[in-house]
Amino acid sequence: PVPVLCVDGPTASGKGTLAAAVAHRLGYHYLDSGALYRLTGLAARQAQLEPEPVNEAEIAALARQLPVQFRADRVWLAGEEVTEQIRSEAAGMDASRVSALPSVREALLNLQHSFARLPGLVADGRDMGTQIFPFAPLKVFLTADAAQRADRRHKQLISKGISANIDSLRADLAARDARDSSRSVAPLQPAQDALLLDNSQLSVEESVDRVLGWWQA
Ligand code: C5P
Repeated sequence: PVPVLCVDGPTASGKGTLAAAVAHRLGYHYLDSGALYRLTGLAARQAQLEPEPVNEAEIAALARQLPVQFRADRVWLAGEEVTEQIRSEAAGMDASRVSALPSVREALLNLQHSFARLPGLVADGRDMGTQIFPFAPLKVFLTADAAQRADRRHKQLISKGISANIDSLRADLAARDARDSSRSVAPLQPAQDALLLDNSQLSVEESVDRVLGWWQA
């Protein structure tokens, strides 16, 4: 069986950075499941479908056939490079909206499972440990306080040349977390056997070392 290590947690908790670094250190593949919801949200927009329940079946059909290609940290949708486009806050909000539709989640199952290849996988998301890879031997649930998360997201956007207002970012993160935690399917919550890691006071290196320590234990 392919070893899978899950990293779940709320928006801007540092999951992506941590999971990618752990994958790099272990020489494992990396699944950014949030990107799949972001791509689905974008595909829906391009098809002029509002990310709403009335369009659930059509959006799920798009998700099932997502014409996506990942190569060296970049991503293409139907041949168009969309690496930056899917990182905007608007794309995150659309992702959160399509991700609350049960048939969309179902439609993305096979694609997510297909990332589990030898020598191993680090999977980053909201429900990696609870729904997608419930048998994973290590599930990390990452948290950080709200001010930290808004601050990190702010720096991340600025570094990409995207302007952002920290107060509206905080409000967006709170709205997204509320929706992700209260939805009926796969709400954001730690798996029963998850290990909790609050990285508010930790550097990336310290968090990576903590997780690698758990993995090797
Ligand atoms: O992690 P990221 O911010 O890219 O995720 C965007 C949105 O996709 C999240 O707010 C969440 O609603 C959704 N998502 C999800 N399940 C996952 C990953 C992301 O519902 N496994």
